[in-house]
Amino acid sequence: FDMFVLAFVERLFRTTYRKDDFVLGKKLGEGAFGVVYRASLAKKPSSKNDGDLVLKKATEYGAVEIWMNERVRRACANCCADFVYGFFENSSKKGGEYWLIWRYEGEATLADLMISREFPYNVQTLILGEVQDLPKGIERENRIIQTIMSQLLFALDGLHSTGIVHRDIKPQNVIFSEGSRTFKIIDLGAAADLRVGINYIPKEFLLDPRYAAPEQYIMSTQTPSAPSAPVATALSPVLWQLNLPDRFDIYSAGLIFLQMAFPGLRTDSGLIQFNRQLKRCDYDLSAWRKTVEPRASPDLRKGFQLLDIDGGIGWELLTSMVRYKARQRISAKTALAHPYFDREGLLALSFMQ
Ligand code: ADP
Ligand code: MG
Repeated sequence: FDMFVLAFVERLFRTTYRKDDFVLGKKLGEGAFGVVYRASLAKKPSSKNDGDLVLKKATEYGAVEIWMNERVRRACANCCADFVYGFFENSSKKGGEYWLIWRYEGEATLADLMISREFPYNVQTLILGEVQDLPKGIERENRIIQTIMSQLLFALDGLHSTGIVHRDIKPQNVIFSEGSRTFKIIDLGAAADLRVGINYIPKEFLLDPRYAAPEQYIMSTQTPSAPSAPVATALSPVLWQLNLPDRFDIYSAGLIFLQMAFPGLRTDSGLIQFNRQLKRCDYDLSAWRKTVEPRASPDLRKGFQLLDIDGGIGWELLTSMVRYKARQRISAKTALAHPYFDREGLLALSFMQ
């Protein structure tokens, strides 16, 4: 109840915006369900041409995306890009469109960073600045990847604790926030809020097949038919326990972990080939390892070497995330307490401040 009062008061006192208040800049992305631009406030044009805001013009799914962003802002603000405002713009086009505004977090997604030859050292530079004399090598790379994974899992734990499943976790939807020097999650366009039944019926066609867990649907088809409106708050946590829908995101996060460890899997073709191999092994990572390791390329060998550091603690975490059965996958919260994250390095310490 308090949350509703709070939301109401917040609405009363917050500035409202409309279309003409924004000046559009460079296009940042275009998907099937919306276009994303850099933007600034018309009254306060930024000195540079590109503004300090990001604007998404979205189709009908924009309504759900606004709901998710409002909820995230109240419940776990630091997990996701800083949401400013969302509204429906009744433009001349039939049906109109939703406008969503965020603060501009930075220029690089994890996908941009991962595809660079410098990865993961480019991330180290972003977080620590230009530090001289830090040794390079597999141990260091592991430490940086460990840091990225802990930030990703921290953000996921925030979403999941709020009752939100993202359903489109991939490097393209993880952005480096230059302000907080941490990774944050973006793009709640396919997310589901299970506690109030919003977007409860999964829109499978929104899912990215490269990162989707084998179950595809976050709820089993046996679940009683979904409430269509914000109802059933008492029922939903039970369903959550039964189906563990959050584990869908864990699988995707596991694939990101894998891509960070194995450079060859960072490309689309590399990942697609891996997915085919894993399916042939009935989604058993250990079985996959047995088939590829004997004739492993130097690239693959390097990945295994990284995950084998400290008695294979990284490999252990990876295999507890990428599993066929959702209920056998580790939760974000439990993963954060995994011994893989025990050792505090320079990097880990620098996030604590
Ligand atoms: P889409 O539905 O097109 O995938 P996203 O929300 O993922 O929309 O945004 C598309 C791209 O725009 C992202 O990959 C990222 O590069 C950029 N972007 C989105 N939100 C922000 C933000 N808050 N700050 C900086 N860049 C952003
Ligand atoms: Mg996206």
